[in-house]
Amino acid sequence: MSGGTLIVGAGQAGVQVAISLRANGDEQPVTIIGAEPYLPYQRPPLSKAFLATAATPESLAFRVRSFYQEQRIELICGQTVEELALDPAGAPGSGHAVTDRGTRVAFDRLALAVGARPRRLDLPGSDLRGVYYLRNINDAIALRAHFASARRAVVIGGGFIGLEIAATARTRGLSVTVVEAAGRLLSRSVAPVISDFYRQAHLRHDVDIRVGVTITGLSGVGGQVRQVEFSDRTQSDADLVVIGVGISPRTELAEHLGLVCKGGIMVDSFSRTSNPSVVAAGDCTVFPSPVTGNGLVRLESVDNAISQARVAAATLLGAPQAYQGVPWFWSDQYDLKLQTAGLSIGHDSYITRGDPASEKFSVLYYKNGALCAVDAINHAADYIAVRRALSLGMTIDPEIACDPSIKLKELIGR
Ligand code: FAD
Repeated sequence: MSGGTLIVGAGQAGVQVAISLRANGDEQPVTIIGAEPYLPYQRPPLSKAFLATAATPESLAFRVRSFYQEQRIELICGQTVEELALDPAGAPGSGHAVTDRGTRVAFDRLALAVGARPRRLDLPGSDLRGVYYLRNINDAIALRAHFASARRAVVIGGGFIGLEIAATARTRGLSVTVVEAAGRLLSRSVAPVISDFYRQAHLRHDVDIRVGVTITGLSGVGGQVRQVEFSDRTQSDADLVVIGVGISPRTELAEHLGLVCKGGIMVDSFSRTSNPSVVAAGDCTVFPSPVTGNGLVRLESVDNAISQARVAAATLLGAPQAYQGVPWFWSDQYDLKLQTAGLSIGHDSYITRGDPASEKFSVLYYKNGALCAVDAINHAADYIAVRRALSLGMTIDPEIACDPSIKLKELIGR
């Protein structure tokens, strides 16, 4: 292939760049190169339904293969871009890529959608059998196969992915311990009331939750993990350990191109990297938040990957439109659905609507008196109302919103 757009990374963001290019009328060649040997697929079920059932990899695919053919999107799966160079003598943004299998692709426009890898813990015993990370289909297939024979799981990391894995492991009948270094679960993302709610929910399902504790080592027998040691000098038997301690954006290709990276590939609100003719989208990026207005934000969500990818496609086509949406996210654990909208980063107050004990309630976050985010548990109406208010640039009076008998949608802008 020669010319057109090259998208490196066939995940949520990469596929969306291609779809948006076509939706916006681009007739030029579009090529996606993805390292994984599967049709591009959704990751969220990997810690939820896919892990709990015998679902096939095909069931996760965004689109069937013929879709890409019909859209004239050339999909090269199972190859990793190892060499990427811009042509200093050519048009801005043009260059070539070479994969690990020697495929060479010339391009006029470049989008990086390379995602992230799990942050690794460098600990004694972390290379034992039975120790897992969860980022891709192969990880999930290996983990769920081990669920069938394992009895005791230790999950390291009390973030969303760790807690979802813990919930799934419980439903598969394993006994589970969750270890979280911070003083509470989900401390990076939610108010203490939500952390406490999830702690109680997992305790009710007989999950052993240990906060303020780190793991110091793993030991095994015959190369298989058998025990985990903690910083409080306690130990736990384990024949399965899952490490979910965050992700590291893949920045090496961008760095090689000389693009500015600060804990992610830096992009602006038009998904432009520090070289404005190269765009990037999804988990690999950091950007100035349109909501907080200051500081760099990295959002690890389906919504962000899709939104930034749409913006990136518009930029590549010379019709830039700034990222404007209200960020959203969800997490499923047991029969609890959390839906969040907005960004609670930098909030200075919050209110709780409803009784957490009812398992249907929400938390509204405020900054300088203005609504900035919601975490709604089993409460779609509150989630929708806040998302709507934020998209209209409106607030909801916290004094009145405290009363759960009043519908939030009736309070927007009042
Ligand atoms: P990725 O999906 O990581 O895709 C990047 C792709 O690029 C990968 O396939 C990678 O192999 C490929 N690649 C990297 N380097 C190269 C290279 N050099 N050459 C070729 N290919 C390359 N988000 C939510 O909103 N809600 C959820 O409930 C939720 N649950 C999640 C559960 C799990 C287990 C995981 C792992 C993530 C979850 N997420 C969730 C996050 C969400 O899936 C990600 O934010 C989203 O997938 C990011 O998409 P992306 O395209 O930026 O990156």
